[in-house]
Amino acid sequence: TRQWVLDSRPVGEPSAENFRLETAELDDPGPREVVVRTLYQSVDPYMRGRMRDAESYAEPWDVGDPMRAAVVGEVVESRHPRFERGDVVQGEGLYWAEHAVADGDDLRRVDPSLAPVSTALGILGMPGVTGYYGLLDVGEPRPGDTVVVSAAAGAVGSVVGQLARLNGCRVVGIAGADEKLEWLTDDLGFDAAINYKTEDVHARLREETDGIDVYYDNVGGDVTDAVWDLLALRCRVVVCGQIAQYNATEVPTGPRKLAKLIETRGRVEGVLVRDYDAEQWREAITRLAGWIGEDEVRYRENVVEGFENAPDAFLGLFEGVNLGKQVVKVADA
Ligand code: NDP
Repeated sequence: TRQWVLDSRPVGEPSAENFRLETAELDDPGPREVVVRTLYQSVDPYMRGRMRDAESYAEPWDVGDPMRAAVVGEVVESRHPRFERGDVVQGEGLYWAEHAVADGDDLRRVDPSLAPVSTALGILGMPGVTGYYGLLDVGEPRPGDTVVVSAAAGAVGSVVGQLARLNGCRVVGIAGADEKLEWLTDDLGFDAAINYKTEDVHARLREETDGIDVYYDNVGGDVTDAVWDLLALRCRVVVCGQIAQYNATEVPTGPRKLAKLIETRGRVEGVLVRDYDAEQWREAITRLAGWIGEDEVRYRENVVEGFENAPDAFLGLFEGVNLGKQVVKVADA
């Protein structure tokens, strides 16, 4: 199989040089294992953490090892009782590879009748589940609340904003391109959207909100600073991601505006999708699929064609090239 390995650890911005394409022999599947042919491979911001030589919430990858990814693929050989040749499956811990041998117990079946199978990497997969529990469980939105979400046109953010709308909230999204803002307000029903690259986020939030009850933070950094002073009484800040700092070469200074939390008696809480068990994943995915079927929730994907372009697809996340979930199409079904 062809596979991408981590060739070197990035310092600051990752680049194409950090990745190496190589060919490896595939082992024969053992008992309960299956051979998966990759159809779609995910690239996700958390992978930047794994390229680093430091313990975070994700374990670091070793240099020279194949990199891991969530994959949707087709079973081409099975020694697992639950799967047979031709089944479409999804696994979180597969590889940046065209084929892989996987433990069948770690795979879930993908139902192609629900939605295109690539969505098992996006809205009907890890990012969708993150947005679902991050907002509903940690953010606790109530009707009439004002919810602000950053990286709003991304995989997680676009789910968060729409679920906030379904819960009767006023929703303001922050994103980095006018095309994204249009999608948020014209297609997804956000009440307002702000371009943090071209607009004064603080000033615009002042116009668009009268106190922020829930801030769903995917980015951190300057965007979060701009939100902070406008937090409302009993606000909830959901810390989901800090992508603006993933390439930082220095340790960022600690949060300084904590006095705001005294004034608001606000709560700041992190969310980690892997805390939710298989049953909770199923519940979130079933509900999201239901809303998609009723056209209550919409999604987009930015499909990068070709396995050889996987590193570019990953690097694109840090430039915001993706409108919706960034996925790599590796092969036809
Ligand atoms: P996205 O689809 O949102 O892609 C990343 C987006 O981040 C880009 O499109 C870009 O959009 C924005 N971005 C990139 N660099 C910056 C920057 N320097 N400042 C501000 N925005 C930036 O990715 P996901 O939806 O998969 O993930 C969103 C966040 O959620 C990430 O931080 C990720 O780590 C986190 N996450 C956390 C999980 C958890 O369990 N806690 C699980 C899954 C994701 P733009 O054009 O708007 O700049």
